[in-house]
Amino acid sequence: MKAAALFRATFGVAPRAAASAPGRVNLIGEHTDYNGGPVLPVALGVRTTVVAGAADSGLLEIVSTRDGRFERIDYRENRAGGWGWGGYVAGVMRELVTAGAAPAGGARIAVASDVPIGAGLSSSAALTVATAKALATLARVPLRARQIAGIAFRAEHDHVGVRCGIMDQTIAALATPGHALLIECASAETRQIPFRGRLLLVDTGVRHDLATGALNRRRSECEAAVARLKLELPELMWLAAWPAAWLARLKRALPEPLRSRAVHVVGETARTRFGAQLLARGRLKQFGQLLYESHESCRRLYECSAPELDLVVAAAKRAGALGARLSGAGWGGTALVLVDRKREARITAAIRRAFHRAYGREPPITVVRASAGMRREPVR
Ligand code: ADP
Ligand code: MG
Repeated sequence: MKAAALFRATFGVAPRAAASAPGRVNLIGEHTDYNGGPVLPVALGVRTTVVAGAADSGLLEIVSTRDGRFERIDYRENRAGGWGWGGYVAGVMRELVTAGAAPAGGARIAVASDVPIGAGLSSSAALTVATAKALATLARVPLRARQIAGIAFRAEHDHVGVRCGIMDQTIAALATPGHALLIECASAETRQIPFRGRLLLVDTGVRHDLATGALNRRRSECEAAVARLKLELPELMWLAAWPAAWLARLKRALPEPLRSRAVHVVGETARTRFGAQLLARGRLKQFGQLLYESHESCRRLYECSAPELDLVVAAAKRAGALGARLSGAGWGGTALVLVDRKREARITAAIRRAFHRAYGREPPITVVRASAGMRREPVR
């Protein structure tokens, strides 16, 4: 069911404002975000739509096609994660109040989405960004895309309590079709980078419960590396800020496994910035090589790959893909493959075959291009 139809069915009236926002995939820049480095995501064609109308209860009245259950929540209470998905919406509402952009008297909200939930494509930022845009539109307060991204980030980070960076909300709010977005996570500086490539997203179906534990361990290792490197360079704030030309010095200063983790972060930072320059000059083939290098670095140095991901990347390379790597932190989840149109069918078939031979099943593969960010939608 579409969001507007769900709204009418639930509340018996038409919505007054609507907005949508996309899921995303990060082209390159893996584990650089929380180290103060750059990331380079694109928006996907899958989107979350939020429609909104006035309420007079002073509350949030919410419903989603995901479970169809209607809930009423008092967003002024701070219940952090205890509200389920309502916590994201409540967080957005509280941030809008702070910004003077909340609809008076509460709001009614209906949500519909084709962003897969919990698959690493950032359904949560699609939800918070679309909600912020729909509610600000309802309140008739024009907020800039950067302000919406900030509200959505704080809703998820401060209110729900997810240790996320700024990437997901920033790309969902600022994306433009045919472009990737270079985001420098330490400064929040952004630059639109032309990206005309075609990507295959290969879902390995591997969902590791280990992922959060492993991710937290990596974060601690990076913090320990910074603490030691400060003896060499007292003003070092972020691991990604270590000069790439001083790699030998870094290696001398750090024991394993901190050395490997740090070499990955410093190398990945350089690859991501160089990758953005290559894309800006239309060098898709050279950019693809960086994707392979990124995967190797994730596999060997950061140790965040999985056999299924390695198999997809190897099969893609053999079949002539421009580049391929794990995406979305790793340890399972999705691999992305950069292809040119002529070889797309052949590469897709080769990955299917190799995966089936090894694991007895075929992974879902979708073709994606860099799509649009948040936008107002007609109220229908
Ligand atoms: P993802 O990688 O998809 O962002 P997260 O764990 O960060 O995974 O966010 C998923 C959460 O976002 C869901 O558990 C749910 O609370 C909320 N969510 C996302 N999309 C929807 C939706 N369409 N309807 C209701 N809740 C949603
Ligand atoms: Mg998320």
